[in-house]
Amino acid sequence: MRGAARPSARSLCLLLVAAGGGLLCPGQSAADPASQAGVTLLSSYLDPLPSSVVAKSSKASRWASLSPQQCMAEATRRKLGVTRWRGAATGVATPVRVSGDINGVRFVTPGKKSPYGILDCRLALALSELADVLKRHDVVEVRVDNMYRPRAHLPGKKKRSQHSYGLAIDMTRLLLADGSELTVERDFQGVIGEPVCGAEARARPELTREAGALRDLICDVARSEAFHHILTPNHDAAHRDHFHLDIARGARTQLIE
Ligand SMILES: [Zn+2]
Repeated sequence: MRGAARPSARSLCLLLVAAGGGLLCPGQSAADPASQAGVTLLSSYLDPLPSSVVAKSSKASRWASLSPQQCMAEATRRKLGVTRWRGAATGVATPVRVSGDINGVRFVTPGKKSPYGILDCRLALALSELADVLKRHDVVEVRVDNMYRPRAHLPGKKKRSQHSYGLAIDMTRLLLADGSELTVERDFQGVIGEPVCGAEARARPELTREAGALRDLICDVARSEAFHHILTPNHDAAHRDHFHLDIARGARTQLIE
């Protein structure tokens, strides 16, 4: 079931606030000016998520299955600020580096000498979808800790991490248009093991405005179906300070935790 067809619990709540109900809406603190104004066009983290089984036609699956030629053609068509990287990048099908904005959002990545600044062209297409969501949440700049990490493995397993293919991104901080910043480590207020989004997530009125904003944002990313795996500080201690987003060729499920 998709959440877009009906008003969200939060938007209904905001209407009641606007009518003088004096309520605190899911995912918002009392200090939230949106609560005062009674207007929001954004979903709450508590709104329903799409099915965990993603269609082959989902954005994540479409981009993950592109050939290098198809990907570069699409990146060029979209005028993405990426440049083909001809240096070493073992395991990355179509290595590029960020050289300008991606769909109107600045991605500040590790410098030219660091492999962490390399990404696969297919991840760049997913970042262009991500940028659409970020702009709705007033984000103008993203701080990236790393994307390509040569030979990275899943913790304690032989299976390769999507970072080893340049198909994963770790984001630590988001700069907003008003100059304020959301920092995952400082602001997320995570609880390991708790569901992040949707009907299973617990309404937490004690969350700060920043924590609610980060949740609303990352759950909207999940609704965009532009990634297969989204990991937050609720996943484990290793993710206490960043959001991990990746795409994986052949993946048919989406996970957010
Ligand atoms: Zn990661």
